Amino acid sequence: MKLFTKGARPLAALLAATLLTAAPSFAGDTHATASATVSAAKICAQPNYAVREYAAVIEKTKKEQPELAEALRLFPKGADLHNHLSGTVQPEKYLALGAADGACYGPQGTTTPYTIEAATSSGRCGDGFRALSEASAGDRERILQSLSMYRFGYPDTQSGHDHFFNTFARFRAVSDNACNTPAMLAEVLRQSQRDGVSYLETMLSFQSSAVSALARQLKQQFPVQASYRDSRQFPALQRFLLQAGLGDTVAAARTEIAQYVNKTRTLLNCGSPDTDAACGVDYAFIVTVNRTSSLADGTPDLAKVFTQAAFSMLLASSEERVVGVNLLSKEDAPVSLAGFQDQMRIFGYFHEAFPKVNMALHAGELTPCFVGADNPALKEHLTGTLKAGARRIGHGVSFAFLKDKEKSEVADLFRHNNALVEVMFTSNAQILGIAGSAHPFAQYRAYGVPVAFASDDEGVSHANFTDEWIYGVQKYGLTRDDLQYLGRNSLQYSFMTGAPLWADVAQGKAVEACSADVPGSATPSVRCASFLKQSAKAAAQWDYEARLKEYWQKYGRFFGKR
Ligand SMILES: [Zn+2]
Repeated sequence: MKLFTKGARPLAALLAATLLTAAPSFAGDTHATASATVSAAKICAQPNYAVREYAAVIEKTKKEQPELAEALRLFPKGADLHNHLSGTVQPEKYLALGAADGACYGPQGTTTPYTIEAATSSGRCGDGFRALSEASAGDRERILQSLSMYRFGYPDTQSGHDHFFNTFARFRAVSDNACNTPAMLAEVLRQSQRDGVSYLETMLSFQSSAVSALARQLKQQFPVQASYRDSRQFPALQRFLLQAGLGDTVAAARTEIAQYVNKTRTLLNCGSPDTDAACGVDYAFIVTVNRTSSLADGTPDLAKVFTQAAFSMLLASSEERVVGVNLLSKEDAPVSLAGFQDQMRIFGYFHEAFPKVNMALHAGELTPCFVGADNPALKEHLTGTLKAGARRIGHGVSFAFLKDKEKSEVADLFRHNNALVEVMFTSNAQILGIAGSAHPFAQYRAYGVPVAFASDDEGVSHANFTDEWIYGVQKYGLTRDDLQYLGRNSLQYSFMTGAPLWADVAQGKAVEACSADVPGSATPSVRCASFLKQSAKAAAQWDYEARLKEYWQKYGRFFGKR
C-alpha cells in the first residue's frame, strides 16, 4: 500500500528556531522566570499549524480512502487506557442530557461562548439564560462550539489549549450530575464498541463533596503547609483522615459505583435478548486526583491533594472496579508547576503504603510554548512521576524537547518501572500544537519505550479513537506488525488483574506456560488453559488474539508488513 508521505513541517521548524533564541533558564529567579515566560508566550502566539495538518490527514483519508478508514475503525484496538469520562462524552449528548434535565444555557460572562447551568429549584433559568430544550439551530451550533473543539479556528497555540480546558466547566452542570453518570458511561461504551475497543479504563472522581469536606477538616487540624511537605508527618495526616471518616466515604463511593454499573447495564439491556453490542466492552475506573487545587492566594492546596490521594488509594485498594489512580488537570498551570515536587512526594508515600495500587499519571503534557525552553519541568515531570512509581505515563510529549542524554535517563526509568506511554495524537495537536515529526511517538519507539494509543477526550476533541489510528498509519507508516504491537501493548499494560500473556510484546513471545501454543487458539494446551484460567488479563489477551486473527484474514490486505 502506498503510504501518505509527510511534507514540510512548518511547526517543527518554527519550534527549532525559537528554541535557539529562548531564555536559557527557568530555575526560579525572577529574571529568568520572566524572560522564559515572554519566550513561551511568543511561541504560543504562533498559529497552530500542527492541528490543521493533523485534521487534514484524517479528513483526506476519510474522503479518499474510505475503505482504509473503515478497516481501521474495525481494527480490534484492545484497550483504551486513557480517557476522561466527562471529556469523552460528545457535546451533542450533553445537549440532549441537559435538555432532559431542564438545564439552561447562557453566555459565559457577557458574551459567547455559552455555558450550561442547572435550572433554579423552581425550574426556571437564571438571568440571561434560556432553556436548553428551546435552543435555536444557530444557538445549538454555538453551544457545540463552546463545549468542544468543533469548528475551532486555532488562531494560535495558546487559544486552542485554553479553549480545550475551558470546555469542561461549561458542561459541568450536566457531567457532574451523578444521575447522568450511567447514561454517560453507556454512551462511552457504545463509542468504544464502534471503534473496536474491547476494554476501557475511564477516569472519574467519586464523592467529591465528601472528600473536599475531609480536606477542609484536615487543613483545620494541620494548618501549617509544611505538614504536607514532610513525608514523616504523612502517617499522622492519614490517621486523622481515617478517624474523620475516610473509610465511610470510600464505602459510599463503592455503593455509588455499584449503582452506576447496574444502571449502565440496564440502559444497555445487557443480558436481555435485545442486548446492546456495547455490553461486550469490559470496563473499569481510574479514580482521579486534581493537581490544580489551590488556596485563596493561588498556592497549591496540598491538604486537598493529600486527601484526594488518600481517598483514591484506599478506594482503589478495596474496590475491584477501580483499578488505578491518576493525577490530572492542566499540567502547565502555575499552581501545578509550583506543587509538582510536593505532589510527587505525596504519591511516592502512598505508593509505598499501597504498593499494589496501580498509578497511571499525566506527565509531560508540556512544551516550551507553555513553560519556556529549558524549563527543568520538561524532564522532571517525567522522571519525578516515574520515580513516584507510575506504571503508565499519560502524554509524555515533553520527551521530544529533551537532550539525548536526558532522553536516555527517562527511557531507563521507563524500563525500571516496566512502564508505558499513553499516546494521544488528537489532544496533543489541539492542546499543545504538537504532531508529526515534532511528536515524540517515533522517538519513544526508537528508545525502546512501550507505547499504546488512547483517546483522552473524544467529546471535547469532537473526534473518535479511530482517528488516532488513521493518523498513526498515514503519518508514521505503521504496518500490520505495528498495529498488532500497539493493540497487544494496550492490554499488556492495562490494569486488569492477573499475569500478562506476553513475556515480550515486541517479539510476540508468550509466557512459558503458553509458549508452545498458538495464541488465541480455541484449544489451548492444558498448561496454558490453566494459566489463562488464573489471569483475567491473559484470558482477555487470548480472546484478543482470536479477534486479531479473524481481522487479518478479512482486512490484512490494507496493511503492509514490516
Ligand atoms: Zn488525559
